[in-house]
Amino acid sequence: MANRLGSEVAALSEFALIERYFTRACKERQGVGDDCALIDVGAQTLAITTDMLLEGVHFLAHADPEALGHKALAVNLSDLAAAGARPRCFVLGIAIPSPNEQWLAAFSRGLFALAEQYSCVLVGGDTSRSTSVGAVNGGSTWISITAIGEVDRTNVRGRSGARPGDDIWVSGRLGEAALALAIRRGQRQVPSPHRETCLRRMDWPQPRVELGLALAGLATAAIDISDGLVGDLGHVLERSGVGATVTWPDVPRAEIFGQLDVAAQQQMVLAGGDDYELLFTAPRSQRVAIEALATQQLALSRIGQIEAAPGLRVVDGEGAPIAATLHSFDHFASET
Ligand code: ADP
Ligand code: MG
Repeated sequence: MANRLGSEVAALSEFALIERYFTRACKERQGVGDDCALIDVGAQTLAITTDMLLEGVHFLAHADPEALGHKALAVNLSDLAAAGARPRCFVLGIAIPSPNEQWLAAFSRGLFALAEQYSCVLVGGDTSRSTSVGAVNGGSTWISITAIGEVDRTNVRGRSGARPGDDIWVSGRLGEAALALAIRRGQRQVPSPHRETCLRRMDWPQPRVELGLALAGLATAAIDISDGLVGDLGHVLERSGVGATVTWPDVPRAEIFGQLDVAAQQQMVLAGGDDYELLFTAPRSQRVAIEALATQQLALSRIGQIEAAPGLRVVDGEGAPIAATLHSFDHFASET
């Protein structure tokens, strides 16, 4: 129920809130506002990022704990990938309603399988019992990971380096995690095997760490797509002081989207979150080098251009603006 305090808070978007209350001048190489903070320590530069997964917000009460363990770390490694950092270690904060050993064994299996893949070690954390009125088992699960990576100081990049004339690229395919959410909510029926592919994309995101590293010296800016293409590209444009045109038919998506109406396709592919692909910008002169990084498992698609004129324009194949009103994910946007 709305009260005065509630409605004041709700009027703020997630990003306006961060800007107003949590952004201060910072002497570090990079502070609030990017995928990772960059901290110089002696000759090294460390990339630091933190992400939470909350029951009822980021996952449903009976989510597969093994997938949760994987995803809790994957979303953090994805931010390291955007910054071109090599994963080094992480700390884990976790609150659970009870010490359910079956749940914990599966969660830690998922967590450590990914950690070992990237030689990223768990070096500490904090554990607590959780309580929450109305939650399943008398409490809800809360997971927070802070990951630390190493960056080559001569090749740092963030969201602010995009320049007019740069190409805009995206890895993989977009929209399947958003479609998975619609499937889970019972809003969409999707036939097998597309249904399973979408659910896997949502539950087992693959951080693009190798690509993030390989883009050193090629990409001028990068971000991982956690909240949706238009919103996340918007962050790059804002921080780089530029605009862009994105060509809708060039945005990579799974075949199954051809069976959806155009409005739903555009909302999921252009604004759906949870894909954890990398969006990056690079000068035209790097096209061949970037195409050489594409693999059979991971396509790289050129979807548009950075321009001097501010704002984001999404156009169809003929260059006409598409009519859709798109909303990327914002934790507070839907409250009134
Ligand atoms: P990402 O999606 O890459 O994890 P977010 O969209 O969550 O990043 O956050 C945008 C920026 O705001 C990041 O630089 C993040 O570190 C920063 N940020 C978010 N919440 C806070 C907070 N409570 N205090 C300080 N910085 C924050
Ligand atoms: Mg990010």
